Amino acid sequence: MNDYLVKAYAFDGTVRIYAAVTTHLVEEARKTHDTFPAASAAFGRVLTVSLIMGAMYKGDQHLTIRIDGGGPIGKIITSVNTYGQVKGLVENPHVHISNKDKLAAGMVVGNNGFIHVTKDLKVRDIFTSSSELQTGEIADDFTYYFAKSEQIPSSVGLGVLVNEHNEVFASGGFILQVMPGVKEETITFIEEKVGKMKPISELINNDYKPEDIINLITEGNHEFVEELSLSYTCDCSKERFHNGLATLDQNDIQSLIDDDEIVEIVCEFCKTKYTFSIEEIKSLRF
Ligand code: ZN
Repeated sequence: MNDYLVKAYAFDGTVRIYAAVTTHLVEEARKTHDTFPAASAAFGRVLTVSLIMGAMYKGDQHLTIRIDGGGPIGKIITSVNTYGQVKGLVENPHVHISNKDKLAAGMVVGNNGFIHVTKDLKVRDIFTSSSELQTGEIADDFTYYFAKSEQIPSSVGLGVLVNEHNEVFASGGFILQVMPGVKEETITFIEEKVGKMKPISELINNDYKPEDIINLITEGNHEFVEELSLSYTCDCSKERFHNGLATLDQNDIQSLIDDDEIVEIVCEFCKTKYTFSIEEIKSLRF
């Protein structure tokens, strides 16, 4: 099964639910960044919630999410567009903590810091909204973020499972949001359903698809409105790094030329290496 996300409206449009399976792309991110298990779990949860948040917007817009909870993993940064493409990085990929045989994502993230969500909606100014981390477990932190920063009562579930070879074999999540005018009995119904749900990673490991996760919450009282393929995709290019080099101070460019060595730049999101010959560096001089 490829990674994808489904959006549905439930209970006469008073509840909006997104569910996503992200197993392959989180495994790809794990391989790219060589994250240790608990770091894979934390990073995978952030990549998943980022993709779902990206799907809440349309067109040529994108979000950057930064989390720094003061834990050993350091900063986690993701960048996502509205087309189901995410990239990201973690400051310290080689961290791992387990607690009672469970990956302690919250402990590697820490809970002494903030989530910052920067929206570049292209049509308006860039703006950032922030909220304090609650537990570092990510799902709780985004539930709080939506309530505090966006005033939308939400429920967020996220999970990642890693096998004994440190490979990601189940990853995904959901975000459920209630709209104004929702009935009290609907909220009670949903709270009971979500409360009784098995962990999202366990459901995905049992071959639950995004549609099945939504079904579990609504008992079929919904309509699907959108499906989106998801991937770990970096938008870097040699041209983009060339443009970056061109912004260097002329003295710095001259010192690269004086070194007389090929310049190698590694993309921090996808680890692709770009090399620039001395001739290419010389072309950057005025
Ligand atoms: Zn890249």
